[in-house]
This record gives sequence, structure tokens and C-alpha cells, in this order.
Amino acid sequence: MLCPKDRKTPLIDTCLTEGLNTKHCTDCKGTWLPAAEYKVWQKRQPEGELDPARLSAPLDVEFVQAPYDTRAALCPECGAYLARARVNWRPAFYVERCPACEGIWCDHGEWAVLEKLGFHRSIHTLFSKDWQVRVRKQQLIDQERQAIIEKLGPELAEKIFILTAELEEHPKGDFGVAYLMRRFENVRNDASASDPY
Ligand SMILES: [Zn+2]
Ligand SMILES: [Zn+2]
Repeated sequence: MLCPKDRKTPLIDTCLTEGLNTKHCTDCKGTWLPAAEYKVWQKRQPEGELDPARLSAPLDVEFVQAPYDTRAALCPECGAYLARARVNWRPAFYVERCPACEGIWCDHGEWAVLEKLGFHRSIHTLFSKDWQVRVRKQQLIDQERQAIIEKLGPELAEKIFILTAELEEHPKGDFGVAYLMRRFENVRNDASASDPY
């Protein structure tokens, strides 16, 4: 079995994590996860939903995108072109998967990031349309938050975020929102009343 990226380095047997037998490239340090091995390992892992919000949370992991990350690759087991799923972390990277045999390729360092994100137990999910839609929604939320931080400064913005979360969870939270809106209406009315023009 040869490295899917350079197609010449033989892959050697490794164990990526306890109970998961994988194939490793000694040259690019990428890892091949044979589908059968991954599925057996996956069944023994606790179930958990992937959370796109994790993508914007700070992670304690060093990562540099592998130089071969964007290079097209062939499945080392069946020769099909590997499909790519973009992981919108910073820096973004691609996880690859064979559409035929469902084996997975992680370039150097990617597994560690996936593990920290909690995505490593469910890598196939990253290739689904549904997941990509969820990621885009999350990106919009992040952009909105960023705009608030830029306009109000990080301290006040943080208070707003906490307040918003509390109001969202409170059964009568909409009273709080209505109060805020009323206050601002009054401020605006007072301002226009004192406006001589
Ligand atoms: Zn390699
Ligand atoms: Zn394959």
C-alpha cells in the first residue's frame, strides 16, 4: 500500500490511537485509516454530536497545514480519487475520504486537531451536506459576533453575549428584550424631541 499523496512511499502499520490500527507514511507523516478498522474503533467510542461552534473556539494544539494537503490523492486501497471535506478551523484544512471503500486520509497533524475538536469519532459527518450547511450558519453567527465586538469593544460585547444567552434560556426572556427595545425607543424619541430641526 502506497502513500496516496506521493504514490511511492510504502505505508507502514501504526496505531493512531488505542485500538485503531492505521497505516502511516514515513515521508509526509500522513495516516490512512482503513474503513473496516475505523468503523470497529468508532463503535467503541462514546456517541456525541459534532458541534460546529467548536471550529471557532481556541484549541491548545499546534498545527501547520501539511504541504500536500490540497494535492489530489488516490485511495491506497482501491485507487479511486479521494473526496475532500474542508474543515473550517484556522488554518483550514482538508480531510480526505474514499467514496468507494470509505477509508480516510489525514495529513500530518490533522488527526490531532480533529481529536481536539471532538470530530475524530465521526469523520464521515464532515462530508455530509447537512454538516456543511450547519458550518455555514455557524460562520454567519461568528461574523455577526465579530461585528458586535468591533462596534462595542470586547468587554461590552461579552456582556451582550452573556445577556443574550441568558435571555434565550429564560422562559420570559422576551420581556427583557422588550424592555431594552422600549428604553432605546425612549432615547430615540427624546433625542428627536430636543432636535431643533
Ligand atoms: Zn506520504
Ligand atoms: Zn478506496
